[in-house]
Amino acid sequence: KTFEELGLHPDLLKGIYDLKFIKPSKIQEKALPLLLSNPPKNMIGQSQSGTGKTAAFVLTMLSRIDYSLNEPQAVCLGPSRELVRQIMDVVLQMGKYTPLVAQSAIKDAVIESEVLNAHLVVGTPGSLTNMIRKKVLSLSKVKIFVLDEADNMIGQQGLGDQSIRIRNLMPKGCQIVLFSATFPLQVRNFANRFAPNANEISL
Ligand code: AMP
Repeated sequence: KTFEELGLHPDLLKGIYDLKFIKPSKIQEKALPLLLSNPPKNMIGQSQSGTGKTAAFVLTMLSRIDYSLNEPQAVCLGPSRELVRQIMDVVLQMGKYTPLVAQSAIKDAVIESEVLNAHLVVGTPGSLTNMIRKKVLSLSKVKIFVLDEADNMIGQQGLGDQSIRIRNLMPKGCQIVLFSATFPLQVRNFANRFAPNANEISL
């Protein structure tokens, strides 16, 4: 399968080919048709880093955004600043030829008290909790919510609970996507609570 055959928008294909990606990786080929299907369905994915999972969920977020609406429609959580930065890099590369406005938020960063009108927001659970509490970030138009590295998330004090609280604020019908490298029982239980009735894939 090629990226064209996955039905991605030409603007996204340009970004992909700029990165010299020739064809979808295994996880992308498996995950993208399920992630992009309509009506949207939740997904729980098992995948190590290095497999191309970031591009899979980033392309899905970028495909679901209505760029004529300047409100947050895609939200992504990562357990650390480093991961948030890495995800943001992929977002900006893949979205290079779209009219995307994206915002990253990391804990302790100064948050202006204005309403955020980015299409896409990536952050740590703490930073997003603050933004929601200060009413900087509105979730009412969010169509897709992604949590990356769930295993690292719940290993850290409070991050899992914060993520569940944010998840529970998402509008009805919001697509919930979770990736984790490993699924010990604790992560499995968390994933099922976070993304109920999900398609499940593993590499
Ligand atoms: P990730 O698993 O998301 O951390 O991605 C691992 C690496 O694979 C990153 O450096 C990506 O740029 C690269 N990558 C992702 N998808 C593809 C692809 N379809 N073809 C070639 N490289 C890719």
